[in-house]
Amino acid sequence: MNKTFNKLKEHLEIIQAFTEALTLYDWDLQTQAPKESMDYNSKTIGILSNEYYKALVNLKVRRLLEKLETDKEFETLDSNEKAIVRKLRKTYNGIAFIPQQEYREFSEFSAKSVSKWEKAKENKDFNEFVPALKEMIDYKKKFISYRKSGRQKIYDILLEDYEEGFKMQELDIFFEKIKEALIPLVKQVSEKSKTIDKSYNHQKYDIQKQKEFCKWLSGYLGFNFNRGIIGESTHPFTTNLSNHDVRITNHFNQENLESAIFSAIHETGHAIYEMNVSDELTQTIIGGGASCGMHESQSRFFENIIGKSHAFWEYVYPKLVATFPEQLKDVSLDEFLIGINKSAPSPVRIEADELTYTFHIIIRYEIEKMIFQNKVKVENLSKVWNKKYKEYLGIIPENDSEGILQDIHWAGGDFGYFSSYAIGNAIAAQIYYYMKSIMPFDEYLRQGNITPIREFLNSNIHQYGMKKNTNEILKDLMNEELSVDYFIRYMREKYTKLFNLGE
Ligand code: ZN
Repeated sequence: MNKTFNKLKEHLEIIQAFTEALTLYDWDLQTQAPKESMDYNSKTIGILSNEYYKALVNLKVRRLLEKLETDKEFETLDSNEKAIVRKLRKTYNGIAFIPQQEYREFSEFSAKSVSKWEKAKENKDFNEFVPALKEMIDYKKKFISYRKSGRQKIYDILLEDYEEGFKMQELDIFFEKIKEALIPLVKQVSEKSKTIDKSYNHQKYDIQKQKEFCKWLSGYLGFNFNRGIIGESTHPFTTNLSNHDVRITNHFNQENLESAIFSAIHETGHAIYEMNVSDELTQTIIGGGASCGMHESQSRFFENIIGKSHAFWEYVYPKLVATFPEQLKDVSLDEFLIGINKSAPSPVRIEADELTYTFHIIIRYEIEKMIFQNKVKVENLSKVWNKKYKEYLGIIPENDSEGILQDIHWAGGDFGYFSSYAIGNAIAAQIYYYMKSIMPFDEYLRQGNITPIREFLNSNIHQYGMKKNTNEILKDLMNEELSVDYFIRYMREKYTKLFNLGE
């Protein structure tokens, strides 16, 4: 092994340990920690973040990195090591330009900003959150200005932090195509959906039984309980320390059966990705999913493409009926399938159906663009938000809590993140059409045989971690980069068939 790389590895292991400690803190804050602990915990988080910063940004790491980047040294590295050096350079540049004190202040501030957002959301009052949001935006602009070169646009840098190769130029076209194709479809489908009776979903469903069913479902899809646990939180999420410690959460509502089921499938999709990153890569800087978009493609592949298909429920629905015989005895499989695919514009993103979902993302993308191009005042964002919901979805949120305050992302400083959800949907559709062309996809689902589908994803996507980016994965797999056309085709085909459109 390369001697310089060996020295760097010692530093990387320390950096990794701080990352894992912070991840564990975050898991605890979102699942178990008492409400009032935040002001006290945020101090420790600030200190740990500072230690992380010092372990990463220092003269020794910089020199080792620079040495490894010389042609002579770089050529002696194996492919994993090369990928680690590349990723380290990206991470290093991402924070090295931020002065240490500012980085620490920011880490403390962002934990507090989240609790400010929580309170404002509870009080349904955007104005309460405005000062923190302004400060957060200023932090982001300042941090980006430290590493931005002349012509680069701030929002492009934010976008590429989440998804390499997807700047405004690419995303403007991506979203325009979706708007053009899907706005008429949304209208048609929501008209048809008006007559669908879904009252079965809102009967009383015992929470303990929901938990047992969801646990079975996660296992059925491939969640490995020796490498993972399932907890509870207000908003379901996935996190992990390594490929042997993957944690997901769910939330349960007695009068909404679907909510927990689809959250379970979604988070299991994320978990399967992390559990199957190769052992060689886990606990290294490239040991996670390739990108946010690629991660979302996997959760949505399971949640929507598999989880909302007829073939999947042919095997699974009898088990659900056996769990809730009273509530579901008169609901046929076809009625259930129409029910889970009902589509109607609604104000809340995470409750949106597959078809209207992308419009929630388009709205956020357009607003973020306005923010970072200085085209809107933070005080006016709630109004802009509601106007865009009226424009694209024909509805106006009743209050800020189900409007602009619904998502945690901006409170934590995650600007540029949302579009990766839409990219994820598009990747999932593209992979789906490819898989259908090479394997009896629906047949596997009907037989209750998820294994070949999961193994295909494991060996073509999951195992590589961040060794390849989104377009490299897609190109190696199907000789084609991301194209939004598959997603549009998928939506059209699915809803035309399901709702007999055109008849
Ligand atoms: Zn997700």
